[in-house]
Amino acid sequence: MSAVPLIPTGRLAPSPTGAQHVGNARTYLTAWLSARSRGGAVRLRIEDIDSPRVKLGAAEQAAEDLRWLGLDWDGDVVVQTARLPLYEAALGQLQLRELVYPCTCTRTDVAAAASAPHAGHEGPAYPGTCAHRSVADALQLRADARPFAWRFRVSESPPFTDQFAGEVRLDLAQLGGDFVVWKSAGTPAYQLAVVVDDAEMHITEVVRGDDLIPSTPRQLSLYQALGLTPPIFAHIPLVVGEDGRRLAKRHGDTRLAALRESGVKPESLLGLLAWSCGWVEKPEPVSAGELLPLFRLNAIPPRAFVLTASLLRQIGYQL
Ligand SMILES: [Zn+2]
Repeated sequence: MSAVPLIPTGRLAPSPTGAQHVGNARTYLTAWLSARSRGGAVRLRIEDIDSPRVKLGAAEQAAEDLRWLGLDWDGDVVVQTARLPLYEAALGQLQLRELVYPCTCTRTDVAAAASAPHAGHEGPAYPGTCAHRSVADALQLRADARPFAWRFRVSESPPFTDQFAGEVRLDLAQLGGDFVVWKSAGTPAYQLAVVVDDAEMHITEVVRGDDLIPSTPRQLSLYQALGLTPPIFAHIPLVVGEDGRRLAKRHGDTRLAALRESGVKPESLLGLLAWSCGWVEKPEPVSAGELLPLFRLNAIPPRAFVLTASLLRQIGYQL
């Protein structure tokens, strides 16, 4: 992989597991403005490799949603499922250095063996049941037709300076321990695919939701292990419903497609989002281009944005 270019390069990385909603739009807008406001490039990547729930046509839908918002991108659309050999090569490098080992544990095994409960949606920390194995043990497991995943040996927890959230220092051993980089189904896990992609696509800045902060030290460990240069990160607060929970179906239909079909103008939504980010004083219609000179990452309030039915009504949408 060649050197990182000097121009800032951001990315939009929709996952086609579900429709894009207002919360996704706020993150995409921020990522797009961050790169474009400095004359940078934006790439589009469809993250379709790590999910059993990819819906047919969802990638096209995601691109359509972005176009509707007025967000553009440079170059070809990268689709993860078309890049398996790249991820395999990265796994091979980790194997050569014994930085991964085959793990035969099921989810239930991990839950049962974990001594202490750990907070978060990621479940209990992996107790290291298979850490005694070496890469060569995979041969016997294959011969025995035992399914296994590849786990990365966590040795340190790289701290990082988040462009939005500041200094972040998390303990990966506590957070989840050795993590899966390759699934027993034969596909790369999210953490590995994202690192390989961002490096190969010369992404210099990653702007994403702050629910992904715990992923970042893992990804930084992989950058280190693979000898790749990491991008800078900005994790911004999510959009939540009136109950304070992350925006989801229970809050009603906030899909961009639903807004579009009901006649909401993209400029009206962009105005609402720009206002929520502190770039404009009132939620009035504005285009993505008009926001370029107004963008300031640190104007975004450091707490989740509460999307209410009343705010949606103001832009002409009945929740
Ligand atoms: Zn295991």
